[in-house]
Amino acid sequence: MTVTNLLIPDVSAPVVTLPVAPSGTIHELEPWKRSFFYCAPGEIPTLLWVLGIHAIVIAGLIFLPFPGWIVFGVALALLWLGGLGTTVAYHRALSHRSLNLHPAVEHTLIFFAMLNGSGNPLTWVANHRYHHRHSDSDGDVSSPRQGFWWAHLRWLWQWPAAPIERYCRDMNTPAYRFWGKVQVTVLALSLLGGLALWPFLGWKMALATCVWAGALRCAFALHVQCTINSFCHMGTVSEQGGSELNLWWLLLPHLGQGENWHFNHHANASNPKLGRGMQLDVGWMVIKGLSYIGLATDIKSTKPRIVPPLSLADETAQPDAKAS
Ligand SMILES: [Zn+2]
Ligand SMILES: [Zn+2]
Repeated sequence: MTVTNLLIPDVSAPVVTLPVAPSGTIHELEPWKRSFFYCAPGEIPTLLWVLGIHAIVIAGLIFLPFPGWIVFGVALALLWLGGLGTTVAYHRALSHRSLNLHPAVEHTLIFFAMLNGSGNPLTWVANHRYHHRHSDSDGDVSSPRQGFWWAHLRWLWQWPAAPIERYCRDMNTPAYRFWGKVQVTVLALSLLGGLALWPFLGWKMALATCVWAGALRCAFALHVQCTINSFCHMGTVSEQGGSELNLWWLLLPHLGQGENWHFNHHANASNPKLGRGMQLDVGWMVIKGLSYIGLATDIKSTKPRIVPPLSLADETAQPDAKAS
């Protein structure tokens, strides 16, 4: 991967309509008024995944024993690696091109992000670039102003994903498409990998391992990531800025990896460092560590950029102002 493909191809294109809105804009269709179980075209698997992991967690916690601290530690380690996959690879390296990762590191992190249920990199990056481009505008598809649960979860299956050909054309290569093809396999491994312990621990502990190191880990990772669209966008939109917030209390569920500093991020989305000053940002520490051994290169400036405040009217008139 070189600097030449750091450009997001469509940043200069005019914003027209929502990506694949079935027959109108999101504000015309108001999908948040529909049933919780309504699915946008192609999004039934997303709803099934969300319902499925929660059902497994509830049943597992009621009927199965705690599998022990070793399994708990493995679950935490996988959660940690998947979190790094999301924040370092999906977010900072791929979505914003704030750095280049060595392909071996990048694809290892993609694997762990997918193992956490974060989705394949093409879909994640397209949705995230869409988020920056339309946040707090009429095109915002995950605004908490349509209700907390809409912003936290429902938009994931009740509105179509952002189109890859428009938001992620630079990554539409066999190397990244591969991950979409193996997504079901990776998720099956994530949920059922604990069954490998059946001959050693018996069926009950093997199933308990599946719950704690599989469905419970994925459900926790899902809700942690969803706090970015819900809690971290519950600020007041005004002449002074958008709805994004830095929420220190989300530091713990985000494992200190930096995504909770979301106000900082919107202020300068190409900055690979999300925490400022004393704000803990383990994702940035990992990037620095990788750069010392040559596995992270072309790291963009970490100097905070002062962005003049935009009003909503300004933002509608200048739709690329928040894209990076
Ligand atoms: Zn945001
Ligand atoms: Zn971002």
